[in-house]
Amino acid sequence: MSDQRSPVAPSLTAKDPFELRVSLGEQVPEQTVQEALVSGDMGFLHSFTTGSAVDGPGLRVVAWTTGCMWRCRYCHNPDTWPLKNGFPVSVRQAADELRKYRQGLKVMKGGFTLSGGEPLLQHRFAVKLLAEAKAMGIHTTIETNGFFSDRLSDAELDLIDLVMLGLKTWDPARHEDLTGQDNAPTLAFARRLAARRKPVWIRFVLVPGLTDDPGDMAQSAAFAASLGNVERVEVLPFHQMGRYKWERLGMKYTLQDTQPPAPAAVEQACAVWRAAGLNVV
Ligand code: SF4
Repeated sequence: MSDQRSPVAPSLTAKDPFELRVSLGEQVPEQTVQEALVSGDMGFLHSFTTGSAVDGPGLRVVAWTTGCMWRCRYCHNPDTWPLKNGFPVSVRQAADELRKYRQGLKVMKGGFTLSGGEPLLQHRFAVKLLAEAKAMGIHTTIETNGFFSDRLSDAELDLIDLVMLGLKTWDPARHEDLTGQDNAPTLAFARRLAARRKPVWIRFVLVPGLTDDPGDMAQSAAFAASLGNVERVEVLPFHQMGRYKWERLGMKYTLQDTQPPAPAAVEQACAVWRAAGLNVV
């Protein structure tokens, strides 16, 4: 993979999260990685991006963590799966990067979003960085699959203003085929957030042949509607923008023949979620 590496130290800021980034932290000794995961003083980031209008309310600065324990077949950023593909940064470095945008984010009624990868794989780093953002008076959002959410205390959850929670599919067997993992922890997290009345946006990726079963979607929708704290549902059409990453990384991609859903199919899916009484965008 040497041809995929940047010949110079990469900037923490990327044009967008579709930039392929690998092995940026490979020189970090394993013991240091383990200590960082415990202390949270250092984290691994794919990149920062600025000016996002799709990762929470208003304009956002987004920090994309590396490390994910899921293996979603449609993942468009598989380079974020290995922790050490990310750039090692201290909490202070990451906070200083965020601080540059502090005033603008407030004026634009935006905020900071921690995404990934799966940010709660680095839960100690996530908590420290979110605390820094809160101390700056910045609105905080985390985008998560919820699998490691029980690693956060209730007080730590209070550092997060909005949770963008991925609901992949309802049926457990289908979920395991799609992601390699059980969806029970995600659903448990959704219930916990509901009990705490934490605002939630649901993200649902519509993949023809994988997540578009109307009955399955209806069950997810009924569950989401029952929670009472879901402010909106985003139905995101599957796309092939991440395909080149799978190919460049030499990974087996199973969706090469899957087409993005037609507009009518997207509208039908939105109708299923809307029928449960949810605000769908
Ligand atoms: S949870 Fe997100 S980052 Fe992890 S594999 Fe799935 S889509 Fe990719």
